[in-house]
Amino acid sequence: LNTLTAYRNIVGDMGKLASALSLLGWDQQTHMPAKGVAIRSQVTGKLSKMLFEFLVSAELGAYLAELRNADGLSELERASVRRVGKDHDRNRAIPAELIEEQSIAQSQAQTAWVAARQASDFAAFQPHLEKMVGYARKFAEYYGYEEHPYDALLEDYEPGMTCRKLKAIIEPLRAELVPFLRRLMEKGTRPDTSLLDGTFDAETQRRLCRRALEVIRYDFEAGDLADVAHPFTTTIGPGDVRITNRYLEAQLLSSLFGALHEGGHALYNQGMPEELYALGLARGASNGIHESQSRMIENQVGRSLQFWTFFQPVLAEFFPQFKKAKANDLCAAANVVSPSLIRVEADEVTYNFHIMVRFEIEAGLLDGSIDVADLPRLWNDAMKRYLGVVPPNDAQGVLQDVHWSMGYFGYFPSYMLGNLYAAQMFRTLRKEIPTLDASIQAGNFEPLLGWLREKVHRHGGAYEPQELMRRITGHELDGSHFVSYVTEKYGAIYKL
Ligand code: ZN
Repeated sequence: LNTLTAYRNIVGDMGKLASALSLLGWDQQTHMPAKGVAIRSQVTGKLSKMLFEFLVSAELGAYLAELRNADGLSELERASVRRVGKDHDRNRAIPAELIEEQSIAQSQAQTAWVAARQASDFAAFQPHLEKMVGYARKFAEYYGYEEHPYDALLEDYEPGMTCRKLKAIIEPLRAELVPFLRRLMEKGTRPDTSLLDGTFDAETQRRLCRRALEVIRYDFEAGDLADVAHPFTTTIGPGDVRITNRYLEAQLLSSLFGALHEGGHALYNQGMPEELYALGLARGASNGIHESQSRMIENQVGRSLQFWTFFQPVLAEFFPQFKKAKANDLCAAANVVSPSLIRVEADEVTYNFHIMVRFEIEAGLLDGSIDVADLPRLWNDAMKRYLGVVPPNDAQGVLQDVHWSMGYFGYFPSYMLGNLYAAQMFRTLRKEIPTLDASIQAGNFEPLLGWLREKVHRHGGAYEPQELMRRITGHELDGSHFVSYVTEKYGAIYKL
């Protein structure tokens, strides 16, 4: 048995465990009865431990050491050794006792966060958050970094990204978009959304979303759609990539854009060849690149006039009150900009500001220039600077996201980067397929999907994000594409 075969066996076994965990996780969110939680947490705990032990095993370490210097590996095999090797190194860097300690603190922090948010009581969450920040800072020291401790954590979500690079991306974005938002609000004409008023039967919405997913070429023979409170997509394995969604009777478009968003994530994994799964590469190039696939389908495609020209009669099949609606009006109503308090409900223009607020705070927490106790005040100050709104309480402010209670520091920037990657890729896509608008307008999503399959999906996690962007667009991430996309689109919709 040679080393490569032994390596592939161990990575294959890890993939099978991960697949079982994904299925258990999906079931837990969608179908598991409440009384099943005790045994389920024992099972997932056991399987997670087995997976972790495979990952940090001396056996895997020895294969990696040998293969890192070996000749004759294919390009994909080398990419696998690089990525699995990085996971191995990072997980071995943290002492086992510290991981266990952190995971206990994490479940306490999450419980405390739920209660604190309900009571809008930051002080009750503060000691837990201080602990989670403490662990994040320790982890950063163990992982190592050159310039800023935040860099060590970003690496998990966005390989190659650093605090300095993020600042260089954010600075010009903020300089352009803050005054643009002010102009939109002061001088623009807000689209009329009254045609979306009403109550929309949930079951009909569910069927509409299935149709929308078929339209974008989501493969139901390699997937499934289930109901949940907080939509997500999960990959069980090749041929099994599942979506979840929720249906609010007073908000028709919420489920539709939810379906398009999760559908975009799912197309990415459905487009990864089986070979990638066997090598531990069936994942996004980064969280940000994964988010670019969902954002592109949701926003660049789903919130375009071309899409609505095709989709208005489809919508009217399900909800006949839209028989006479104009595509123009529907599209405008789907693109209302309003500076709000809540990140997850933010529109394309204001979304990134929510991330900038969190980035400033996270970087400060990690380098010690910000104290946890000051967060409510700093949060509200930053919201005012970026969005011009101030939360009336901490539940709608600093306590709104689950991420920090879970110790996920460095995660938020991926959401913003997803928007920026999407704008840059879409620009290239339109140049390379001049008939794109016409085909979307005709309801033909094959050219779009074909391009994404070829340029993005089939590579899975084989390239780091900036390398992938160079291959697709000819250069690394450049936020100015997002600025021109947003100012052109919303300048027109708001008749500036
Ligand atoms: Zn997403």
